[in-house]
Amino acid sequence: MLIYTHPLLYQVVNVQNLLSLHHIKTVVRNEYAAGATGDLSANETWAELWLQDERDQSRAQQLIAQMDEQSREEWFCSQCGEKNSGSFEVCWQCQAERRL
Ligand SMILES: [Zn+2]
Repeated sequence: MLIYTHPLLYQVVNVQNLLSLHHIKTVVRNEYAAGATGDLSANETWAELWLQDERDQSRAQQLIAQMDEQSREEWFCSQCGEKNSGSFEVCWQCQAERRL
């Protein structure tokens, strides 16, 4: 079953590595699709991570959720220049809104 998908292959491989650390087996699919020609929609070219054993599903989803939380990138406030954790939507120092 499909457990995770992302436009960037390395991100999918990151997740695969994380899950393998927890003895959860997965396979990456669509590895080469991003370079393929044709009328595929953007979504179909995303790299996919497939779970080999469905019994790992809840554990895998939990690990992925944790990783997403931790890996959100740090950002710098456009107003005061302070560095903020990726989980913050406003600057912790001056409360300016996050701008990408
Ligand atoms: Zn700020």
